[in-house]
Amino acid sequence: MKLHLLGTGGAEGVPGFFADSRVSQHARLHGGKDIRTRSAAVIDDEIKIDLPPDTFAQLVRDGISAMDWSALVFTHGHDDHVACTEIQYALYPFTPNEVLPFTIYANPQVSKKIWDRYPSWPLDLVETHSFESFQHAGYTITPIHANHKEDEDSQNLIFDDGRRKLLYGTDTGIWPAETWEFLAGWTIDLLVLECGEGFKGTPYHGHLDVYDLVRVVNRLREMGVLHDASRVITTHHGHMGDGLHTEYEEALNPYGVEVGFDGMVVEF
Ligand SMILES: [Zn+2]
Ligand SMILES: [Zn+2]
Repeated sequence: MKLHLLGTGGAEGVPGFFADSRVSQHARLHGGKDIRTRSAAVIDDEIKIDLPPDTFAQLVRDGISAMDWSALVFTHGHDDHVACTEIQYALYPFTPNEVLPFTIYANPQVSKKIWDRYPSWPLDLVETHSFESFQHAGYTITPIHANHKEDEDSQNLIFDDGRRKLLYGTDTGIWPAETWEFLAGWTIDLLVLECGEGFKGTPYHGHLDVYDLVRVVNRLREMGVLHDASRVITTHHGHMGDGLHTEYEEALNPYGVEVGFDGMVVEF
C-alpha cells in the first residue's frame, strides 16, 4: 500500500492563515517541512481521504491527478476537511462527465451537507457509520468512532488491502471506550495520528497533544495493535502547538514516532 500525505496542517494551516506566531514566522522564512497545508491523504493514488480547501494546490504541487480517484472518503464535517463546493469541478460543464467519476463515502452529517448543496446532482454517495466496514475496489474500509466533533459520527478510518492495514487518525482526541474495545484484536501496520495541539495542550478534548499521542501509541503497542514493525507518523499539526518540524522530531522520534510532512510518501 502507498500512502501519500498531501496535507499535514491543522484547520488554519501553517503558517497560520491570519497568524504571526513563532512557528508561523519560521515557516514563512524557511519554508520546507514547516509549511503545512490542510490535512488530507491519498492511498495508492486512488482512494482520496478528505477534501480540504487546499486540494487543488496540493495536487499541482505533488504532480498527481484527481482523475485517478475512484473514491473520496470523508472523516468528518469540519471545514478544513470538507470543501464540498470543490466537487462541482468534477462534473459538466467543468469536465465532460455527466456523472461523478468517483464514489463519495461520508457520515450522515457530511452526506447531508453535500446533498443540501447539490440536491439533484448525479453523485454516487454512500453513507458510512462507525464500526461498519464497507468494500471499495478491493479495499475493506472500516470507520472507527473518534472523540472529536460531538454533534456527528466523527470517524478515523482503517484501510485494509488484504496485505496491509493503515489506520488514518486525523482529528481524534482520546478515543472513547467503545473504540478502544473495537480495536482489540486488530493489527495495524501504519498508524497516522494527529498531533493537533502540539506542545500546548488545551482543555478541548477533540485533539491530541504530543503527550497524549505518546500515551495512545504506547497503549496500542501494549494491546498488540501496533507490532514491532508498525510505523507511526503524525499529521494535523497547528501553529498554535508551538512546535517546529525538527522540535517535534526531537520530542517524538525517541518514542518511535515519525513526524509527517506535506508530500510525504510511505510504501509499506
Ligand atoms: Zn481538522
Ligand atoms: Zn476536525
